[in-house]
Amino acid sequence: MSTNDQTIIVWFRTDLRIQDNPALFEAAKEGRIIPVFIWSPEEEDMSPGAATRWWLHHSIKSLTESLEKLGTTLTLRTGESIKNLKKLAEDTGATGVYWNRRYEPMIRKRDDEIACQLRQAGLTVKTFKASLLSEPEEIENQSGLPFKVFTPFWKHCLKKLNASTPLPAPQKVKPPKVSLRTTELSELNLKPEQDWGHSMNEVWTPGEPGAASALELFINDSFNEYAQNRNFPNTKGTSRLSPHLRFGEVSPRQIKHSLMQSGHTHWKESHYLSEIGWREFGYHLLYHFPHTVREPLRPQFNRFPWRENSPQLRSWQKGQTGYPLVDAGMRELWATGWMHNRVRMVVASFLVKHLLIHWRHGADWFWDTLVDADLASNTQGWQWTAGSGADAAPYFRIFNPTTQAIKFDPEGDYIRKWVPELRHVSAPDIFEPSKVDRGQNYPSPIVNHSDARDRALKAYEKTKA
Ligand SMILES: Cc1cc2nc3c(=O)[nH]c(=O)nc-3n(C[C@H](O)[C@H](O)[C@H](O)COP(=O)(O)OP(=O)(O)OC[C@H]3O[C@@H](n4cnc5c(N)ncnc54)[C@H](O)[C@@H]3O)c2cc1C
Repeated sequence: MSTNDQTIIVWFRTDLRIQDNPALFEAAKEGRIIPVFIWSPEEEDMSPGAATRWWLHHSIKSLTESLEKLGTTLTLRTGESIKNLKKLAEDTGATGVYWNRRYEPMIRKRDDEIACQLRQAGLTVKTFKASLLSEPEEIENQSGLPFKVFTPFWKHCLKKLNASTPLPAPQKVKPPKVSLRTTELSELNLKPEQDWGHSMNEVWTPGEPGAASALELFINDSFNEYAQNRNFPNTKGTSRLSPHLRFGEVSPRQIKHSLMQSGHTHWKESHYLSEIGWREFGYHLLYHFPHTVREPLRPQFNRFPWRENSPQLRSWQKGQTGYPLVDAGMRELWATGWMHNRVRMVVASFLVKHLLIHWRHGADWFWDTLVDADLASNTQGWQWTAGSGADAAPYFRIFNPTTQAIKFDPEGDYIRKWVPELRHVSAPDIFEPSKVDRGQNYPSPIVNHSDARDRALKAYEKTKA
């Protein structure tokens, strides 16, 4: 029975919020809490990229401020998580460690080991569901196996969707009895060396209050028209909540609840909630098929004749392919750490199909440059594009970057915004690489679309052998 005077360590990880945070909420009931964030990039499945480090810096700062308002301080530590947690418990007399669960393969293994060691040391360990509507183990098909197709997966999840409401932030939390040393945020060196954060600052407000504003703005202004507008990169048709979700500044349960409260009668069947479902599906796949982070889910893709071509990879990364929509997307990514989903699909398809460059190179670049870089969604997005994943786009369906631009950026506004060399070109000339006036140093197309298409289809034959 709780004496309400215990000290509990709350280990913050990808749940940088005080609202709807089950580990924090339960720990606050026990008495005193020690909130801690441990920077241990070498324990991650993939060391966080530059853009996510930038976000993390600001998100930790924001969490620190929120916790201070509740009456406590976030302790920052670096190095091995287990050593830090044990030392903190020794120094403070903490009797338990609580955290919200994560699902990446190496992290799961690490967390299991840590839980085991802490329990052996006599501490209470409690872990909670906080970042998914349904955890991977809760969902299985009729044969008791993981799903590999999205539609039945999501139908099943919707049936299980419960009406639980988000938890409030604790009113006030009691700090530990002893004062603790904390590493300075600047010592984590999360901010990029180049002046890159500057353009990101203009676009994003990392942290829980920023997430709450983005959610409110989306529900009020864009949710109704989401299904119609979500594919047009030059509109504010999508929620831009992905980095907030990635860092747990908002939970999917809070999003679900806001949709319910919004008065929209079909929120449950909405296209928007099903996109949250794709995020859940990504975690389901990552959990059950952890090798897909580096290897194809469909083994026949091991035979695919990928090409190594560093100059072309570089042209793609820098937005210098000569295909205006591809270049606009890659430059938006570089400038803001984000790219619209439609354009992600086009640029990813260009890399793996037009250039035949392995999707892993694309996934690595996204990992380093996306503020929402997330192991589950990124792996799923690339395997989907390459045709090698679950419920993936068939490889032989090859996006034409020109017709994609005509369809989804009909006036060319998105292209003009991100490719200044083309600001003087209007639609329809702007879509057609061969018609674009290159007087302003805009590159010639690095491949010809129909030749690249034929080459890709031939390469695909190898997977059928
Ligand atoms: C090659 C490729 C790589 C991707 N890498 C990532 C990644 O690293 N991190 C990431 O969060 N998303 C990734 N996505 C998915 C998607 O592009 C982004 O989630 C979306 O663009 C985020 O913008 P938004 O928040 O405005 O989305 P909205 O359209 O407003 O959707 C709401 C939320 O649903 C989730 N979501 C939407 N679409 C998808 C999807 N296709 N797959 C999984 N979740 C989705 C996101 O959490 C998103 O914030 C990738 C897609 C592709 C094609």
